[in-house]
Amino acid sequence: MALERVDVDVLMPTPPPLPEGGVQLKLPLSLLGLRGLNNLGQTCFMNCILQILVHCPPVARFFLSDRHNRHVCQMRRRQAQSDSGGDGPLKPCLGCEMDAIFAACFSGTQAPLSPHTFIHAMWCSSEHFAGYEQHDAHEFLVALLAGIYSAMRQPSCLPPPPPVPAPLHPGPASLTRPPSLGESRGGQPAGKACEEMSSIFAGVLRSEVRCEVCGHRSTKLEDFFDISLELGRGSSPTAPGASGPAAGGGGAAGTSGGAAESLEACLRAFTTEEQLLSEERCWCSSCAALQDASKQMSIERLPNVLCLQLKRFRQESRGKQTSKMDSFVQFPLASLNMYRYTSAFLTARDGKGRKTPTPPPPACGGGGGVARERGARRTAPPL
Ligand SMILES: [Zn+2]
Ligand SMILES: [Zn+2]
Repeated sequence: MALERVDVDVLMPTPPPLPEGGVQLKLPLSLLGLRGLNNLGQTCFMNCILQILVHCPPVARFFLSDRHNRHVCQMRRRQAQSDSGGDGPLKPCLGCEMDAIFAACFSGTQAPLSPHTFIHAMWCSSEHFAGYEQHDAHEFLVALLAGIYSAMRQPSCLPPPPPVPAPLHPGPASLTRPPSLGESRGGQPAGKACEEMSSIFAGVLRSEVRCEVCGHRSTKLEDFFDISLELGRGSSPTAPGASGPAAGGGGAAGTSGGAAESLEACLRAFTTEEQLLSEERCWCSSCAALQDASKQMSIERLPNVLCLQLKRFRQESRGKQTSKMDSFVQFPLASLNMYRYTSAFLTARDGKGRKTPTPPPPACGGGGGVARERGARRTAPPL
């Protein structure tokens, strides 16, 4: 990838005017975490994701407030290794590596940083990324978050075990010995750090399928960590919510270099009711038969940070070749109103009776088992 020198002022948004009597604070760059990352080969995909995470306020708050301290984590893992009679180098921990990246970016040093230990940890965590080939930044983000969640579930990150009460009748020592730091705590819920980290990106999607014959509705809630949006579907004239002042401008869809499609149009298409006919018919438990149905996706609970992926590759109708859609998408930098894509808004607008199952708690994403349903990345099993 050719690097170009870009005038940073062009990319920085103009700050709002100061109120009367206001004082402009001049913060040193070191306090803002502004530090360049060296390209270690073809690792621009990795550097851009790291820079985004370093400047993502909830993630920065998490690591800058020592929610995963690399020194403590390493000490505990070393202790656990020693308790089990092992030795040798510790397996890299992506939580520790992220902690180190934050420490380096906010250290006051502005010399470019080479995240070589980070990339090694990433290779150990996700074999697919081992080597210096180019990769998709979004796939990298997904794998990195899975690796961080996995790190948060290590015994070293779990809360300390509750104190063991002194036995009334002292028994064998093995029954009263408190578990060591590295001891397995199977079945214990993930620690607070894991919950905090996953709650940043975890939302809940609602999928409602309605039988066209008897009207029976079935609702499913599932965790998601990002939403994949299709391009070229936003021009549907029947898309609900397509009108109105907040629907966003530029609704015209362009699939290949035409008029720019808006992000709002993609989101409208995502939450538009779709018909499931013929081969896509669904099993209706009320009719006890396969029936034509309609399906609608909506966002039951928004995450603090919403990751959206634009699906720029599509499969041609004939053959299995894919082509890339290079059309522009208008992405609002401010005033994106996500409320109109939520279950609450759509249900109220369509006047549907609601029967809402209890949303699952945010899950700490695992490294595997990722499945997709119409663009949702989920880690929880179907309800
Ligand atoms: Zn760690
Ligand atoms: Zn039915």
